[in-house]
Amino acid sequence: MGPPSSSSEGATARPTVVIVGAGFGGLRAARALKRAPVDVVLVDRHNYPLFQPLLYQVATAGLEPESIARPVRAILRRQPHFEFRMAEMTELDLAGKRVLTTGGPILYDSLILALGGETNYFGLERIRAHAFDLKDTSGAVAIRNQVLSCFERGVLEPDAERRRALLTFVIVGGGPTGVEMAGALSELIRLVLVKDYPRLNIKDVRVLLLEATDRLLAAMPPRLSTAAERTLWRKHVEVRFGATVQDYDGDRVALKGGEVIPARTLIWAAGAQAVSLAARLGLQTAPGARRRGADAAGARTPRGVRHRRRRLRRIRGTAAPDDGAGGHPDGGNRGHEHRTAPAGRSPGGIPLPGPGLARHHRP
Ligand SMILES: Cc1cc2nc3c(=O)[nH]c(=O)nc-3n(C[C@H](O)[C@H](O)[C@H](O)COP(=O)(O)OP(=O)(O)OC[C@H]3O[C@@H](n4cnc5c(N)ncnc54)[C@H](O)[C@@H]3O)c2cc1C
Repeated sequence: MGPPSSSSEGATARPTVVIVGAGFGGLRAARALKRAPVDVVLVDRHNYPLFQPLLYQVATAGLEPESIARPVRAILRRQPHFEFRMAEMTELDLAGKRVLTTGGPILYDSLILALGGETNYFGLERIRAHAFDLKDTSGAVAIRNQVLSCFERGVLEPDAERRRALLTFVIVGGGPTGVEMAGALSELIRLVLVKDYPRLNIKDVRVLLLEATDRLLAAMPPRLSTAAERTLWRKHVEVRFGATVQDYDGDRVALKGGEVIPARTLIWAAGAQAVSLAARLGLQTAPGARRRGADAAGARTPRGVRHRRRRLRRIRGTAAPDDGAGGHPDGGNRGHEHRTAPAGRSPGGIPLPGPGLARHHRP
């Protein structure tokens, strides 16, 4: 290993800033250093930053994964003194000023860690083993495959109880992710799938949003909670308050209080935390802390809203007045084909994570 500034071929007099994580934070840091007299080395296990706010669109067949994952090299192509390395950080050697990665150690003069977060299952390991989550493209594609596969199996299932369990989709957590996911999933079912599966009785299909507290979008003003609840009701989502999920074995959702809901699909949107590597490295994190405004953004990021409106127009084949205004969407025109792109596809040379699918996707 060369001297501290020799992360690239040929050492320079400039100090090296290593940034680990090419998400919102890491990219912003890299851009901010564009004119600084430093060499920047950006490290990420993926070669694309993921636009997580639109993951629910991938999960509900509104977008292909590659539309929300642009190659990091393309984004920072013009930045001088910049280098990208696709590798996973495994350890940090503070004394030696080295980041240890799957691609070898990288020396730094200054280090920025922007590792993001992961799903918090609050120690409920059985739920972790059987639930789907919405943190990356593999999780989103797994949800999409699961929904379509449940419909396919539902058509063939003669037993009414088992069929209803296949067609019951439970989303846990009434924050922005859960609200968006529930609304978009119900739209997909009621605007598209219902027409593709005419033999299925729509009354067998349920989308439930389970929230442990007494309101949705708890971090937002109450009027937005009420608006979200109304909108979801119009979309035929069953919103349940005071519903705390305690266990899930892949077939039955067990609630605190004893109620059991038979369901083959549970999507966990109930918690986020800093990546576990941060704890292993002994780094301090603020529990549950998110970027300012992030909670409010689930459905409200301007780009997200614009995209959502475009998508609704596409689905309905007509102008979309707003998110869900105008009664039940059943009457809307189709004008939209759901797509079932194979998981892990990499058009445009973007490698999409595949291994996660095996973990997430039950046969
Ligand atoms: C479904 C969903 C919807 C959201 N909606 C919104 C929204 O509408 N508005 C909003 O403002 N926020 C939203 N957020 C939150 C927002 O996406 C995050 O706040 C933001 O991505 C955090 O940026 P970050 O750079 O800290 O982490 P990330 O964007 O998660 O980036 C972290 C990067 O670090 C990399 N990484 C992690 N560990 C390692 C390692 N060991 N080695 C190498 N690389 C590593 C990851 O691959 C990733 O590229 C949403 C989040 C989710 C999951």
